[in-house]
Amino acid sequence: MTATSGIYLILATLTHSCTIQTRGRKFELSPGWYFYCGSAMNNLSARVNRHFYTEKKHHWHIDYLLDKAKVAAIVPYVVSDNQMEHELAKILSKTPGLTGISGFGAGDCQCDTHLFFADSLCVQGIFHRLLARQIEITVAKLRKRYIGIETPVEKFRKPWELLVSCIISLRTKDEVTGPAAARLFKEAPGPKELMALSEETIEKLIFPAGFYKTKARNLKKVAEIVHTEYHDMVPEDKDKLLAMPNVGIKTANLVLADGFGHFEICVDTHVHRISNRLGWIRTATPEESEKALKILLPRSVIREVNGLMVKHGQNICKPRKPMCKNCLIKSLCLTGIADETHSS
Ligand code: SF4
Repeated sequence: MTATSGIYLILATLTHSCTIQTRGRKFELSPGWYFYCGSAMNNLSARVNRHFYTEKKHHWHIDYLLDKAKVAAIVPYVVSDNQMEHELAKILSKTPGLTGISGFGAGDCQCDTHLFFADSLCVQGIFHRLLARQIEITVAKLRKRYIGIETPVEKFRKPWELLVSCIISLRTKDEVTGPAAARLFKEAPGPKELMALSEETIEKLIFPAGFYKTKARNLKKVAEIVHTEYHDMVPEDKDKLLAMPNVGIKTANLVLADGFGHFEICVDTHVHRISNRLGWIRTATPEESEKALKILLPRSVIREVNGLMVKHGQNICKPRKPMCKNCLIKSLCLTGIADETHSS
């Protein structure tokens, strides 16, 4: 672990009842499991090691506890936003099976306590919820930053428009996709009109989109399918969408999420790259990211993540040189924190 900032969760056992007398308070503790949450805004690694190995200094409440208890595990969580310590305490206070020891180690902060007695072990669930909360906070910051800013393709919101514009957008920049889709919709607003156009006409309308010849051929086929099999209505069904030419999981999820309000995530290169940089997931391909994010992302944000990350990826978190110094979510990002640590 590098010298960096973060929060941590200590899991400790008390084998006997005991009284802990700190400078200001007296706590009667029963035997059992205890969860303690803390933060280290300068050196997380040193703090964790201190709790594991060093002599107790009787400086903090946790020192008094660790004099009597045995540390079973310490789970560090790298983040430089100290708000997350309160979020962790909040999650612990709402976790079934945990009871807060009021006033323990929280004298100088807004939490009621940092120590919780446990009648069950639920570490994994706690950290899953902590990450979900961190994701919500990160998305809220991005939402505030990019509110009112529209990419050239975001004006297309109906299922048919989303399907067609997403096919055109594959390996093509938004600045090219937006006008190309607009030209096509002007000539052919629906599937019936599009299937009536020749491939050559479609090619001319969507040029210079990448692979415009293949896309023109496939768009015509997609129009025929939607017209003849689905009565001009884009099907609200992933398998039916995936059966169409040029439609992959990314396009299908975009249509379902933005066109029909399903809880799906469209993972393009921006979402794949930024989610990994943030430390939300560790995946090698967008396909793996799609599966991981579908499980991880709270429903409250899942449909927004694509649009926000596209804008953040185009402006700040660029593929080659992310501009971490100017990034408003740096304190919630593993890469941003590492960048700060190395440059300080
Ligand atoms: S801190 Fe850097 S890596 Fe993290 S999201 Fe911002 S620009 Fe991207």
